[in-house]
Order: sequence, then structure tokens, then C-alpha cells
Amino acid sequence: MKKIPSRILFVSSESRPFASTGGLADVAEALPNELNHLGVKVDRIMPLYRKVREGQGNGSFQLSKTPYTLQLPMGGETIQAEVYSTEWSGTLTYFVNCEEYFDRSELYALPHREYSDNFSRFLFFQKAVVALIDVLGRPYEVLHLNDWQCGLIPLLLEKGILGTGRGGHEKTLFTIHNLAYQGLYPATGLYKTNLPGNFIDQYPSLEYYGQINLLKAGITGSDRVNTVSPTYAREITTPEFGCGLEGVLSSLAVPVTGIVNGVDTEAWNPETDPAIATHYKKSALAGKEDCKKALLKEVGLSYNKELPTFVMISRLVDQKGIILIGKLIEQLMALPLQVVILGSGQEIYHQWLESWNERWPEKFKGVLGYNSDLSHRMEAGADFFLMPSQFEPCGLNQLYSLRYGTVPIVNRTGGLQDTVTDYRLDEKEGNGLCMNTYSPEALLNCVQEAMSLFHHKKQFKQVRQNGMSKDVTWSKTAQAYLELYQDLM
Ligand code: ADP
Repeated sequence: MKKIPSRILFVSSESRPFASTGGLADVAEALPNELNHLGVKVDRIMPLYRKVREGQGNGSFQLSKTPYTLQLPMGGETIQAEVYSTEWSGTLTYFVNCEEYFDRSELYALPHREYSDNFSRFLFFQKAVVALIDVLGRPYEVLHLNDWQCGLIPLLLEKGILGTGRGGHEKTLFTIHNLAYQGLYPATGLYKTNLPGNFIDQYPSLEYYGQINLLKAGITGSDRVNTVSPTYAREITTPEFGCGLEGVLSSLAVPVTGIVNGVDTEAWNPETDPAIATHYKKSALAGKEDCKKALLKEVGLSYNKELPTFVMISRLVDQKGIILIGKLIEQLMALPLQVVILGSGQEIYHQWLESWNERWPEKFKGVLGYNSDLSHRMEAGADFFLMPSQFEPCGLNQLYSLRYGTVPIVNRTGGLQDTVTDYRLDEKEGNGLCMNTYSPEALLNCVQEAMSLFHHKKQFKQVRQNGMSKDVTWSKTAQAYLELYQDLM
């Protein structure tokens, strides 16, 4: 039998319920918790942002200061980090505190620009991770690293935070949640790493066309690399999806594998969800119609049982395909349907939503901002979920939709392809609609098909129930990660 690591450290720049901007935070919460429930010992570590401190206010967790104070070299300077901790749902979670770097209103960026010192902020975080591991007596056999904010850790484990050598004995798994974010910074920042040697070209694992690429460092420096769906694992080795790293990804000794994320089935359960108007389940869907009425009332649209409601909950960025909706909006608004979109992101898309609100107040509602409770009510109250992403490493909302009996309309890419089956191709098990290309025409075709499905009540119910029957729990996912950790040993 393969050996299970005695202790694992899960390192990420965000985790629910502490601080979150996207899907990574969902994984960072659920996976360690699930593994601990399986009896595998996993701790978690992340920065102590202002949002984490503020989150204590709702009483669900309380931070305690640990005795560990870390003195971290950042080039010529030494900056101090304190370490805090809390226990969350069975997982010991450490927080790296440094007010200069993390006591800010946002995690990574203000609406218009990234924080200019993000390289220093996350270099500091990564140094703190390695320093804490040493202070704790190196208890971890495996480090599970996530995204560019963890990319330097393999090199730091080997060279040490002073660059004088450490001898990393920990095994590392690196998970790519989104290849589009690479942590690309000017080579002039290299001195802050304290790595020996002054020239970026001495570090081929780090160097990318004369710049520092933290994601590349994580990919090339870790023992194994995986991503969050089998299709995305294949896609990122091609020029179309590889974001310039396809060569690096296709030449790894062990190919990148894909594991689809699960869903926190306690938080996302239409039978118990405290945020929604009426509870319902697969065998009794009537409550879902009440949720639709309540949702429409909440956003100021009137209810008409003949009109299907389409929703979208998303970061409003190019990746998510909102541009396709923009290209179709006149045609969509001419159809007998209603659309509700919740999101925040690029300014241009904010302006679009605001102008559509003004132009079609009876049929369209765009809500700007991040609102977790409303997102639950939208999943519960909608008939269809729009997810026409240009690329999608895994995607969570289509999984929430399946669980809530809301039929997802997706582009056939990445994790969307791995989790949504077009009912037109598979009448027995189909649970959604898939666009055959990334284009406005393909999206419009799916919307029109969805409207026709909406009026075929029996078939619509079947497609909804197929979605609700799909196993989207974390247990399968956690088991797959456990096998990866075991392979590393
Ligand atoms: P990504 O990580 O690329 O943003 P995912 O679909 O993997 O996309 O995960 C997005 C997560 O963030 C989901 O849990 C989704 O519900 C949530 N989310 C995104 N935008 C909002 C918003 N404006 N309000 C509430 N939740 C949101």
C-alpha cells in the first residue's frame, strides 16, 4: 500500500471563509477540510488580510496570536511577520501578518489597478511560509502549492530564505487554478529574493523573456503539477490555451493531470440553504418556483410563469465571455425572457450592465458587486445559468447550478466540458446545453434551444433532475488528491 503523508501544508493566497475573490478560495476551504475528515492531517496557511480580521466580526472564527515571530530578509531589509492561527472546520489555519503588506482594503488589486508591490507582498508571504515550516521543526512531508502566489516556494525550500541553502526535503504538488494569471514582474525585483547571483538568466526556472514569472517557477520547480479538470490539463499544452507556457507544460517529466473540483454540499444545498426563500429537492421541485418569484421581486423584475429566467454570476472579465452577451444583447432582449447578472470586474462591463439596466428595466437586472447570499438566491431562482467562458479551468457555478436544478448553458471548454453534458446529445443523462464554438451565434442558438426546453415541461424537469443527480461532492475529488500525494511519497 502506498504511504500517506504524515502531514501536509496547503498553501494559498486566499481561502473561504476568511478572504475570497474566486474559485481558489472555495477549493482552499473545502479540500483541506475534506482531507482532515478522511483522517489525513492537513494544515492551511494564507496571508492575514484586513478582510480576515474583519471577518472575525461575524463570530464564526477567532484569530489567536501564536508565539512565532519571523524575521524575513527582503533584499537588504528585514521585515517582521507575526503568525496567527485559528481552527476552521477541523483544519488548523495559519495566517501571516504584516500590516505594511496585507492590511489593505483588497487582496490583490483596486478596481483599476493591481497593487504595485504585489511581487514583494507575495514574496514575503512565501518566505514566511518556509520560515514557519522551519520554526515548527519541518513537520510537513508534502506542500500543496496553488497558483503564482506560491510559485517561488520550491526554490525557497531548496535555497532557504537567505539564499544560503536549506536542502528542501518536502515534496511539492503545484496546482494551476488559472494559467492566465502568472505573476510576471520585472527582473529588477530579483534582489529581494536574496537568491545568490544577480542575474535573472541564472534562474531558467524563473526567467520568462527577461522577466520573473512566478507561475513558471512553480510549474518547473515542483515535483508534480496538476490542474482543475482533465480537459484544461490537455488544453494548456496547446498554443491556444497555454498563455505562452505551453512549451514548459508539455515538456514536464510527468504530464500535468486534471482533477475536477467538488462543491461544498453543506453550503450549497437547496434543501437547507438559509439564504433562499423556499427549500426544495430533486423529487419536489415546487419550491424552486417560489425561489424564482422571490428572486425577481428582490431585483425588481416582475414574475411571469411563461418567461424563463437566465442568470449569470461571475467576475466580469474577458475570460467569462460577457462580451458574447454584449454582442447579442439586442437580440436577447427581443426574446420573451428575463436576465439577471451579478458580478464585478472590468470597468467596461460595469458600464454595460448599468446601461442595460436603464434600457430594459422590465427584462434585465445587472447587480454590481460581490454578494454571496444573492448568488445563492440566483442559483435557486433561475431556470438557466449562462457560462459562455472563453476558457474555464474548472468553474464552480455550473456545478452549483446542477445542484440547484438550474440548467447550465456553457461553452464546451475546460471543466465545463468535463461536467456538463448536452441533453441534445444524451437524452438520458444530459444536464445542460453546450455551445459548439465560442461565438455569439452559438450562444444565441443555446438560448433559443433553452427557451424551447423551458416550454417542454416534462423534458425540462428531466434535465433539471439529471443535473441534481450528478455527484459533485468533494469526497471523490479529495480521494483523487490523496492519491496524488501518495504518488509523491
Ligand atoms: P473564477 O475562480 O474564475 O472566478 P469559478 O467559477 O471557479 O470562477 O468560481 C467563482 C466563485 O466566485 C464561485 O463560487 C462564484 O459563485 C463566486 N462569485 C464570483 N463572482 C461573484 C459575485 N459577484 N458575487 C458572489 N459570488 C461570486
